[in-house]
Amino acid sequence: MHVLVVEDDQRITSFLAKGLQAEGYVATVAGSAAEAAAFVDGWHGQLDLVLLDLGLPDGSGEDVLRHLRQRDAQLPVIILTARGEVGDKVRGLDLGANDYMTKPFSFEELLARIRAAMRSSAQPTATELVVGDLRLDLLSKVAWRGGRRIELAQREWALLELFMRNPTHVLSRSRILNQVWDLGFDPGSNVVDVYVGYLRRKINRPGLEPLIQTVRGAGYRLLAP
Ligand code: CA
Repeated sequence: MHVLVVEDDQRITSFLAKGLQAEGYVATVAGSAAEAAAFVDGWHGQLDLVLLDLGLPDGSGEDVLRHLRQRDAQLPVIILTARGEVGDKVRGLDLGANDYMTKPFSFEELLARIRAAMRSSAQPTATELVVGDLRLDLLSKVAWRGGRRIELAQREWALLELFMRNPTHVLSRSRILNQVWDLGFDPGSNVVDVYVGYLRRKINRPGLEPLIQTVRGAGYRLLAP
């Protein structure tokens, strides 16, 4: 599950990004309205939820929401606002937000609201990804290969989700690092190779085709047989 966090307060973004990643979400941060609009355009169809601050340095989150709703009527949006005024909340909901939270908020409550917003927007088929004989349940976070259940640690799960959302595409180490780990992670780290190794050991079985291919000098690719 890929969450776009639109927020300019770095303490909040770092708290949210770390917390969401610890829960197995992939979190991307946009610190301005312009950056948020660029992510919405560039990753159309690949975002699962947006957390949206209203007070941004270059404009209002309401403009981001208007822009987003022109492209996507379904993507769940939760407004995060320091302003407690009823008018802001009503305007946000009228513009197409699914829910709102007033800062400061409890992270547990935010997680519950994220799950609720995703449930209410999810089409029955959108809760699982299927590539070949590999299946990933996005709500229970369990994978199956050929009917056999595979238990995954959180990073393995986020990594597999990224591969399954982009089958046959070559994913570079830096893209994987950015989407599954913190943006500030040392690019020289071999953590991606290590985790691809863990994932391969879990999803490859004797007699079944290996699914994750190493593309020399470029990265990794999930085959879709
Ligand atoms: Ca703000």
